[in-house]
Amino acid sequence: QNNMWEEQKGERMEELLSYSHVDIAFRGNTVVHDVSFELHPGEILGIVGESGSGKSTLLKAAMGLLGRDGMVTRGDIFFRGQDIPDLPEKQLRTICGAGIGMIFQDAGASLSPIRTIGAQIRESMAVHKKITKAEAKRQALQLFEKIDLEDGERIWRSYPFELSGGMKQRVGIALAMLLEPPVLLADEPTSALDVAVQKQVAEEMLHLREVFGTAIVLVTHDIGVVSAMADTVLVLKDGCVAEYGTAEQVLKEPRREYTKNLLAAVPRLWRK
Ligand code: ADP
Ligand code: MG
Repeated sequence: QNNMWEEQKGERMEELLSYSHVDIAFRGNTVVHDVSFELHPGEILGIVGESGSGKSTLLKAAMGLLGRDGMVTRGDIFFRGQDIPDLPEKQLRTICGAGIGMIFQDAGASLSPIRTIGAQIRESMAVHKKITKAEAKRQALQLFEKIDLEDGERIWRSYPFELSGGMKQRVGIALAMLLEPPVLLADEPTSALDVAVQKQVAEEMLHLREVFGTAIVLVTHDIGVVSAMADTVLVLKDGCVAEYGTAEQVLKEPRREYTKNLLAAVPRLWRK
């Protein structure tokens, strides 16, 4: 198996994505304060923190998705040397999806209601690379199977309204993964799915990292997921970095009471 991750580990690893002293405000109200972190090829960064601590806001900023009220008011977000907040809309669109992929908490909701799943997947893959219809379908159905989406042929032909919420969520996850972006941002991607399926999605993320060297930022409530998957962990509290370090260090020797409480509050289904 072609294992890019292993190859890259041997090389000097340039950072793919870096946040440097980032502040983010909505209508002048700053909700993210002075956040810095770096993401290298093949690295999995877990971001944890209470609800409202700024996790989603942090990820959305990397895709220019803060909306009309939101703005990066200080600092830089670099993706491969390009400063995201400074990019014109058009350039940003070429990065989104192919360069930086995003899986939302309600990934299924971003599907178009009026086109079949197959048409949507085929089209978004074709935007980013030259691929035949048959090959797009083959890759999609193969991934469907891995994340427990049975009867891929039927799903391929379906409209979103014909699928359950959990199935749509998994189609949304598959859509982001099929573009094979070097950076994947996942915002509580599986919290609505049952535990068995959560594990399959997690395994598929690890597989992407293994084969393509995908770097992943994973926002999750589940410390167990972080402990099973993350290389580095960033703990957010009220929009500020409470801790940032290797998973080993943060999970085993948390320095802050806040982190200790987070660790204690979550069921550990995923222990290594
Ligand atoms: P988390 O994902 O950690 O639960 P969020 O990033 O969603 O937290 O929210 C962080 C803070 O930013 C919250 O106080 C939230 O109310 C605020 N916020 C998020 N989105 C908006 C918005 N579009 N307009 C105004 N405030 C927002
Ligand atoms: Mg959130």
